[in-house]
Amino acid sequence: MSVDGASPPPCAGRPLRVAVIGAGPAGIYAAEALTRQTAVPVAVDLIDRLPTPFGLVRHGIAPDHPKMRAIRDTLHRTLDHPLVRFVGNVDIGVDVSLDELRRHVDAVVYTYGASLDRHLGVEGEDLPGSLAATELVAWYTGHPDADRERVEAALTGVRSVVVVGVGNVALDIGRVLARTPDELEPTEMPQHVLDALAAAPVEEITVLGRRGPAQATFTTQELRELGELAGATVLMDPAEMELDPGAEERAADDRNATRNLAVLRGWADHVPEPGRTRLWLRFFRRPVRFLGEDRVTAVEVERTAVDADGRAIGTGELELLPADLVVRSVGYRGTPLPGLPVDERSGTVPNEVGRVLRDGRPSPGEYVAGWIKRGPSGVVGHNKHDARETIASLLADAEDGTLRVGGPIGDLVDTLVTRGAEPVLLDDWRAIDAAEVALGATYGRARTTLHERAALLAAVRAATARPR
Ligand code: NAP
Repeated sequence: MSVDGASPPPCAGRPLRVAVIGAGPAGIYAAEALTRQTAVPVAVDLIDRLPTPFGLVRHGIAPDHPKMRAIRDTLHRTLDHPLVRFVGNVDIGVDVSLDELRRHVDAVVYTYGASLDRHLGVEGEDLPGSLAATELVAWYTGHPDADRERVEAALTGVRSVVVVGVGNVALDIGRVLARTPDELEPTEMPQHVLDALAAAPVEEITVLGRRGPAQATFTTQELRELGELAGATVLMDPAEMELDPGAEERAADDRNATRNLAVLRGWADHVPEPGRTRLWLRFFRRPVRFLGEDRVTAVEVERTAVDADGRAIGTGELELLPADLVVRSVGYRGTPLPGLPVDERSGTVPNEVGRVLRDGRPSPGEYVAGWIKRGPSGVVGHNKHDARETIASLLADAEDGTLRVGGPIGDLVDTLVTRGAEPVLLDDWRAIDAAEVALGATYGRARTTLHERAALLAAVRAATARPR
């Protein structure tokens, strides 16, 4: 509604056409917010680079977390909404430039996330046997762009693993690597992933924090789950749980830290058990270099202390942790989309309440939501509030005339098809969905992820008899 309470005249004979780029949770919540209002008539194209929707719900949330992944059923309601059109398999900047896309729509909402890994900047980081969490997660969730050969080579013969970082992604990786084949069997992981994990003779996993247990960013529910693994024992050094009185006081003010410390201290008497994977949680150590000639053999770490401001300060004391696989899980950063500004340092698109800023000023018709707006933090649900905030800005702009329906507009899908691209629409996605369920049934599972783009598109073509 406009300020005087009257509905604005939003459109010259057609709804406001909005392209949302990225069909993960942020994009789907943005589309939902657009469809849940009637003041501004809209039509939404929900575009994704992959032939599949759901972003990090499909290719981020660990496959051994089926309840969390089930949020896709709720998200699907927005895909099914008559005002929303899913347009997958479209790479903005390749299949269509951003400028061209903008000529087809009245507004664009960027929600394509933050998919690049961060580096540590230490010697040996690029040795074989050193992987980014993004690579391992892409592989075990069956992302079509995963480098299967590289990840499987890194996993071959692995006995000891160091995971750098103590966020929820690091716990996902530690937990997935510690799971028994029986625990992983019912998941949606592709069969080759299950086979490679079952074949890796992992005996010891160390999840490594550069600061103390009170500064770990993992959440208590995820931490607690480590204590319930069928074939692994969580271990720690009780000395690392002893905090000085100042640190203890600061931790007491932080609910997550207090709960984490309680869980960790409850495991302080654990000892290694024969036949079980040792899952160490170690703190106050930062990697200074990776050792090895042809592949990683160890990580040299420096012991740290945490100062009153919560920063890790090196003590100069060095230690070697044997490792034949190192996974750095130290956060994500956003990619620049050709033609879109991204702040190099934060890896986010500069914005003001979701309005994209170009040269410090809001750029008419451009908005941003999700990780590419605020950085890689929070769980799936945080994107709902974030997307609503952005869409409120968009709707306010439509109501005050900043954002207008333009002249005649070509249809994006028609343009794409004309130039030989192969957009995947909702029914096509349903065909992929059905093919994954059918493949799962052959293994006695609810679903098995199709991990190759060619297989995903083949499922579409088989169902629609589309020539190609
Ligand atoms: P995160 O929580 O920011 O964790 C990053 C970790 O990397 C921190 O422990 C950080 O330590 C460490 N780190 C950063 N730079 C480092 C360096 N140079 N050397 C050593 N350690 C370094 O991020 P994340 O684990 O990637 O997760 C991203 C978001 O997704 C989070 O909001 C997370 O909660 C969410 N997520 C949730 C779930 C779930 O709910 N189950 C699962 C996965 C992810 P410092 O704190 O010292 O910087």
